[in-house]
Amino acid sequence: MIDILSLELGELEEILTSKGYERYRAKQIFSFLYKQKVYDFDSITVLKKETRKELKEEFFIYQFRVKSVAIGSDGAKKYLFELMDGSLIESVLIPMERNRFTICVSTQAGCRMGCKFCATGRMGFKRNLTTSEIVEQVRFILKDNGLKIANVVYMGMGEPLDNYDNTVKSIRILMDEYGLGISKRRITLSTCGITPALVRLKKDLPHINLALSLHSAISEKRSLIMPVNKEYPIDEVLKVLKDFPIPRRKRITFEYVMIKGLNDTKEDIRALIRVMSRFKSKLNIIPLNKHDLIGTKFEPTPIEDIEKFAQTLRDRGFFVTIRKSKGSDINAACGMLATRAS
Ligand code: SAH
Ligand code: SF4
Repeated sequence: MIDILSLELGELEEILTSKGYERYRAKQIFSFLYKQKVYDFDSITVLKKETRKELKEEFFIYQFRVKSVAIGSDGAKKYLFELMDGSLIESVLIPMERNRFTICVSTQAGCRMGCKFCATGRMGFKRNLTTSEIVEQVRFILKDNGLKIANVVYMGMGEPLDNYDNTVKSIRILMDEYGLGISKRRITLSTCGITPALVRLKKDLPHINLALSLHSAISEKRSLIMPVNKEYPIDEVLKVLKDFPIPRRKRITFEYVMIKGLNDTKEDIRALIRVMSRFKSKLNIIPLNKHDLIGTKFEPTPIEDIEKFAQTLRDRGFFVTIRKSKGSDINAACGMLATRAS
């Protein structure tokens, strides 16, 4: 059986035409899957009964089991999905200003990057998600909330570039005009910085928004909290990012989880200035979210100190935001996705 939500339009066209169908059928089916968001082939009413029967014999439409849905006081809605093999993943729908929404998707069950401050990292790695398991998070949440469109951020569980092929395919399906039709401007991929994968991404999807989890501009410090920095040192990562074709109006986002005494000193500001001066960028400071999987080793920088840190950089002309993590009362905030049915 072929997992139809894992296919790009071109692939579906190829399979169907090789079976003797007309080429336009693929677009028709794709539109029903992504515009109408159907869950069974009988709902594709433009097809003859026999055709639907044939399709059912060859393909299946991936479906999650919804384990729980929790809504936080700030409106963030966290979905806990059970996959066919029993793995659990989380996705979050985040309300934004002006009636817009952002969907935060997972790309792996767990994560093998082991960042010290991240609950997903602490829980270890289970497996990569398939393309359909990534796409279905968006398709399901849009349908469940009666939304036509949303921004999508690859910032849930897992490291998207450690599941490169399925991540890229899922983005292509989101972007396809017969798929979910989400423009590249609305899609952001967040990564801890895997150099060879970034080199590939530059060719495969040069125009989506990128966020780099920087967390320290001092390589030795970064290695202490992000083991990935030992294999792919920040200098190399920045070199690759430097020649991403970032459009004039766009900025690359550097994410910066603020940890008390660790990356919030004057020395850290100086190093950050050196890095940010090289890029058209913005810094997104995320106050550390505490979680019992992280223990007590790390504490968040007090908010007044975060404000001062941000102001110092703004005074130098840099663009800095402080993220108010949404959903912290339901463990849906950054770095807190560890699939406890809270
Ligand atoms: N693996 C990718 C995307 C998922 S994490 C990455 O690391 O970029 C999304 C963001 O949440 C990252 O910037 C990550 O560093 C941050 N994060 C992880 N743990 C956190 C915590 N405890 N508090 C605040 N942010 C955290
Ligand atoms: Fe993985 Fe990102 Fe968490 Fe690091 S911060 S462990 S890369 S999910």
